[in-house]
Formats: sequence, C-alpha cells, structure tokens
Amino acid sequence: MTTRNYPYAIRIQGNFPDLKFRSIPKQTPPYRPLAEALKEQSIFELRNVNGTLVGFRTPKYMQRVNASGYHFHFITANRQTGGHILDRQFQNAKVEVDTLSNVEIDLPRTAEFDHADFGEGKPAEVNRVER
Ligand SMILES: [Zn+2]
Repeated sequence: MTTRNYPYAIRIQGNFPDLKFRSIPKQTPPYRPLAEALKEQSIFELRNVNGTLVGFRTPKYMQRVNASGYHFHFITANRQTGGHILDRQFQNAKVEVDTLSNVEIDLPRTAEFDHADFGEGKPAEVNRVER
C-alpha cells in the first residue's frame, strides 16, 4: 500500500496454521447494539485449516462507516465454518489487495432505520439547524 488514505479490500487464500475467530448467534429484530450481542459470542480456534480471509483496511477518517484499521472475516475452504477474525497466522497464501477509490453505501428505506438511534440523539435534534 503506497498510501494509508484509501480503503483497501483484501483477500488472503491459503493455509492457516493457527486461527481464532468469533461468531455471534443470528439476531432478530429489534436488533441490539453490537456490544450487547457480543456477550453471546462464541470463540473458535482452528489449527492447520485451508480457507479464505476477506476484509478491509479502512482509514481512520472513515471510522464512522467501518471500523478503522484491518477487519477480516474467515471462511473455511469447505464453507462450513467462519467468523470475525481475532488472531491468525497464514502460510503459502495468495494475497490480493484492491485500492478502493469509490465507496457506495446503500441505506435501508425502512421505518426501523428512520427511528434507529445511532448515538446522535433523536432525529429532530440531528436535523435542528443552529442559527
Ligand atoms: Zn467482523
């Protein structure tokens, strides 16, 4: 990476001698904050497994869109197990990196989204214009 100012999409395919990842149970509405759902997470550790890591490196200035830094998810080659990566080693791996100069975000047009609390107060307060 020649600059840290772009987001990057990264795919790493290979053998993972030591892998630790987490998964949380499927959630249903009303969805809870991630910090609360994480209380039910399961931690998995695999040794000597083939699979794929996919993820992003997001610049700090975009951290309200995605967690800044590296964020990887793993799936085994047989597509039976996977999750959010906590720790990993890899060897004999093929690494592909794509520089992203365009980020498209599709926001849901739903009542749930209209009334979701993103920690910025009620919608009326967000839209209030100071004069
Ligand atoms: Zn994740």
